[in-house]
Amino acid sequence: MFEFRNGSLHAESIPLDAIAREFGTPCYVYSRAALTSALAQYQSACAGQDALVCYAMKANSNLAILDLFARMGAGFDIVSGGELARAMAAGADPRRIVFSGVGKSAAEMCYALECGILCFNVESAAELTRLAAVSGAMDRRAAVSFRVNPDVDARTHPYISTGLKENKFGIEFDAAPGLYRAASRMPQVEVVGMDCHIGSNLIEPAPLLEALDKMLELVDSLAGEGIRLRHLDLGGGLGIRYRDETPPDVAAYLREVFARVGARELKLLFEPGRSLVGNAGVLLTRIEYLKPGAARNFAVVDAAMNDLICPALYEAWHDIVAVGNSGVARAVYDVVGPVCESGDFLGKERELAVREGDLLAVMSAGAYAMCMSSNYNSRPRAAEVMVDGEKMQLIRQRERPEALFALEHLLR
Ligand SMILES: *Cc1c(COP(=O)(O)O)cnc(C)c1O
Repeated sequence: MFEFRNGSLHAESIPLDAIAREFGTPCYVYSRAALTSALAQYQSACAGQDALVCYAMKANSNLAILDLFARMGAGFDIVSGGELARAMAAGADPRRIVFSGVGKSAAEMCYALECGILCFNVESAAELTRLAAVSGAMDRRAAVSFRVNPDVDARTHPYISTGLKENKFGIEFDAAPGLYRAASRMPQVEVVGMDCHIGSNLIEPAPLLEALDKMLELVDSLAGEGIRLRHLDLGGGLGIRYRDETPPDVAAYLREVFARVGARELKLLFEPGRSLVGNAGVLLTRIEYLKPGAARNFAVVDAAMNDLICPALYEAWHDIVAVGNSGVARAVYDVVGPVCESGDFLGKERELAVREGDLLAVMSAGAYAMCMSSNYNSRPRAAEVMVDGEKMQLIRQRERPEALFALEHLLR
């Protein structure tokens, strides 16, 4: 959905330079068709199965994107009360919302119970105790799924790996049966499922399938003692192509999952984040200065680490391309932002044929990008634009500097 036409990079049918003229830079640009087709790929692979795709909205929580996915029938995986409020504002069906995360507060539990979510993905014994107390006080029964840590190496960056014993996430595999037994005796909760999520940006499906086999083993042994689960939630984690990787094929992965689950009466849930939105967005930025040097050349752009933190945070690699063709000689640049940190780079050692004032597109910037942006250096957050064929629409206006300090108070 992001392709060159007549030497100029387009989002669907709109040239990116037209978007920069209309809305300024830095600016996130999303393709509606790319978003729709990514979700449709999961949904069509689930056709005829008892399955639900719950978009992990932390990957990109713009209301317009949530609304689009909700209308297509997606559920949502949330990790905070704030995300629940967003999902509700976007018209999500609460009966399709699962609540993940290691640190749910009592207030968040209460809010989620009031909304009537599908289930809580409980991550510790202490959380179960608190959830039972909260739901008991509300005279409700909380639907519970335990997030089990399968101790599988996702073989991804350590910061986005979550399924090993040393990670903070989930319940230790060997402790899970005891918790299921305890929960099944609690009147304030209803045990409905099991879930796992072993990490993000997985390039091979093998660790996901290894985790699935361990989950099924546990599901079967619980069923043997009379604890029958309604659903199994396999989390998210499928990677996308940033450079030249070959991430798992969604349809092939799901086919393998359904085959291994076989005749068991289990609804399957999936919580994809990155693979639904990652390749559906780019970050559009303009070159402020070219700064040649003895050791390195720098292209200083108007987007920075506050707009896109992943390169600094876990050495994420995003393709960076010139939007137009300036006809100048190619050179190798570090693409850096204006923020006062040496970690403020979007890409290093990139060969680009560019002049001052040219536009660059940082590719595959739909996931864990805008949603992780900050106001560091008092930089207003970027605008967000959705392209749909020949239409472009602002879905988040650029922040105004005054908004950055509107909540602050002078001492008096
Ligand atoms: C982040 C997260 C996801 C989504 O992961 P992706 O790698 O973006 O698909 C799903 N489930 C849970 C519990 C998560 O924390």
